[in-house]
Amino acid sequence: LILRQLAAEIEGIVYEQQEQNEVHSEQAANLHNAVNRDELKVFWQPICDPGSLSPVGHEALVRWLRSDGTFSLPDSFMPLAARSGTITKIDRYVLKHSCAKAALHAGGRFVSVNISSAWFGLKWPALAGVVAKTLTTTGLAPGRLVIELAEGVLARNPSRVKQEMEKLKALGVRVALDRLGGGESAFSYFEGYPFDIYKLSRSITSGLGVSVGAEAAAYATIRVAHSLGRVTYAVGVENRDQLAFLRDEACDLVQGDFIAPPGREWRPYD
Ligand code: C2E
Ligand code: MG
Ligand code: MG
Repeated sequence: LILRQLAAEIEGIVYEQQEQNEVHSEQAANLHNAVNRDELKVFWQPICDPGSLSPVGHEALVRWLRSDGTFSLPDSFMPLAARSGTITKIDRYVLKHSCAKAALHAGGRFVSVNISSAWFGLKWPALAGVVAKTLTTTGLAPGRLVIELAEGVLARNPSRVKQEMEKLKALGVRVALDRLGGGESAFSYFEGYPFDIYKLSRSITSGLGVSVGAEAAAYATIRVAHSLGRVTYAVGVENRDQLAFLRDEACDLVQGDFIAPPGREWRPYD
């Protein structure tokens, strides 16, 4: 175990040297300035009760709207942001904006923020400290914030991830495991980590109604989560059949274009 932790840490150091050695391309500089130029916008996708479809929370999803009118989705610029070191700046911006937005809405809905694996390298500030400060400055109740960590985060620096998770939970913030693939390995993520929420990935949701493997993975994940007192959300619900499957199997909350795509405002307004 110690060897594995050391290996993960060395991997972290190598990764950061690569980041420092990276010649910053023009695009990387543009992205870095985009935050200051106010070109990054947060869109909100409702996370809903599978029965009533009323929103219980919103996931914050960043978009890049350039002054020339062009629009980029995160998958096209977040990898560059990760290589050039801009990613934690973007995450901080989204976190602050999300907490402020949620604090404005009296309705009590939660806001769910994606956090990059870069936060768990050695040179970055501790995530929980930044979150605590943001909650204080925005006045948001900790119970209304969810931090989403993608499955890949756990491979990078597991001891640091666990430390930060414990601190976040002590603050009263919930932590979600995002992009859960449903593979065999996924079950270690239940025992080893105290995630509050497990988010079934779009690849699982899209297989509902067409792949027995995807259905079995969804079914099993929901049951394992519930037996341990955890909850599951499904991402990427695109049709009535997927929604019906998730509702029948008691998936706790659902999110997807069939219910509501990401938009500029919280809906319905409150
Ligand atoms: P994610 O966290 O898994 O977010 C869900 C993605 O699925 C979003 O893509 C959302 O727009 C998309 N989606 C939701 N419903 C549907 C559907 O019914 N059909 C389809 N085809 N897609 C659907 P998006 O906004 O392009 O974001 C991609 C990924 O970028 C996110 O995946 C997340 O990992 C990352 N990301 C987004 N915002 C941030 C951020 O502020 N910080 C960090 N570190 N990552 C972010
Ligand atoms: Mg997410
Ligand atoms: Mg997700």
